[in-house]
Amino acid sequence: MKLIPIPAFNDNYIWMLHDERRALVVDPGDAQPVLAALARDGLTLESILVTHHHGDHTGGVEVLRQNTGAQVYGPAAERMPEPLQRLGDGDTITPLGLRFEVLLVPGHTAGHIAYWGQIPDADPVLFCGDTLFSAGCGRLFEGTPGQMLASLTRLAALPEATRVCCAHEYTLGSLRFALAVEPDNTDLQAYQAHARTLRQQLLPTLPSSIGLEKAVNPFLRTHLPKVVHAVQQIDPNADDPVAVFAALRTWKDKF
Ligand SMILES: [Zn+2]
Ligand SMILES: [Zn+2]
Repeated sequence: MKLIPIPAFNDNYIWMLHDERRALVVDPGDAQPVLAALARDGLTLESILVTHHHGDHTGGVEVLRQNTGAQVYGPAAERMPEPLQRLGDGDTITPLGLRFEVLLVPGHTAGHIAYWGQIPDADPVLFCGDTLFSAGCGRLFEGTPGQMLASLTRLAALPEATRVCCAHEYTLGSLRFALAVEPDNTDLQAYQAHARTLRQQLLPTLPSSIGLEKAVNPFLRTHLPKVVHAVQQIDPNADDPVAVFAALRTWKDKF
């Protein structure tokens, strides 16, 4: 199985998984780059997985379905291009014969879902849309800080080798903030140097991994005393886990 981030718009990635013959894509906000990749590699698009309703994740679904007849999967409770198979927490699907588990991860949107897939002879993959970014997390457009913290805690509990396929290349900006929170984190310093090298070569910083995110992502580290301490320098009233998370997210929004 090949895992490929197809760049779209300014900073989106449309993730593609294929076996040289059949392909699936995740969150195709634009059909054109997907059609080009399918034609170039002689692939048949079988499945389209959607994480949430935002246009930069759904804009290409209709054209791709019309061109390929692909089966569309998406969240149970969000506005979606019909027809599709709607999915809720704990559902499993088997596109390309691969087993994917669906996790409901509200916060960025109210009904956002993520897909965790097991790949034979390779590390698992997580398609997490705009919930988890490398060294960051999505903005809270529809959900509460408590919901987002619970969603990220579930993702952090996945196997550490899981390849984290985020929908945006936000890594360098997120790292700048993460280092303001934890300037002494040596894993963070090393990751920033690595990510800068990749971006200088116009390469994606993704996929990341759950193990790496647990070491560098402040939004997965709000239980650690040094992160709590840093947040309380900004908001002294943040004194429980949800309040610390909320204050950290607000800090990032203004950073
Ligand atoms: Zn979004
Ligand atoms: Zn997005």
